[in-house]
Amino acid sequence: MTEKLNLTDAEWREKLSPEQYHVLREGGTERAFTGKYEKNKAEGMYYCAGCGAPLFSSDTKYNSGSGWPSYTAPVEGEAVDEHRDMSHGMIRTEVTCAKCEGHLGHVFPDGPGPTGLRYCINSASLEFKPEE
Ligand SMILES: [Zn+2]
Repeated sequence: MTEKLNLTDAEWREKLSPEQYHVLREGGTERAFTGKYEKNKAEGMYYCAGCGAPLFSSDTKYNSGSGWPSYTAPVEGEAVDEHRDMSHGMIRTEVTCAKCEGHLGHVFPDGPGPTGLRYCINSASLEFKPEE
C-alpha cells in the first residue's frame, strides 16, 4: 500500500497555486495547449505537484496532439489509481495520485504501443525535474 498524504483543505490551499488547487483538489482541467509541460521534450521525471511522488517518466511521454502531456504508462508500482468517472455525460477513467489522491487527468484506450494507453495528464498536476 502507498502511504497516504492527508492534508486539510486549508493546508492544500496554502501549499498549491490556485491553478494546481483547481486541478488536483477540484478535479479541474487546464485548457488544451496551455500547460507548461505539453511540449516539454527534456529527459527526466514528472512528480506529483501535490505531494512530490514520482508519477511519469519522460521515457513514456509522447506527442499525442491532444494539448495535454501524454504518456503511455505511469512509473512502475502503484503510483496512480484509476477510477470510473461518469461526469460530464461521458464514461472515462480518472487517474489520481495514489499518495495524495490528487486529480491528475484521464486515461484513454487510444495510445500507441506497447500499452495502447494514453494517460492524458494536466501540466498543473505535475512538477518536472530534468535528469542530472
Ligand atoms: Zn500526489
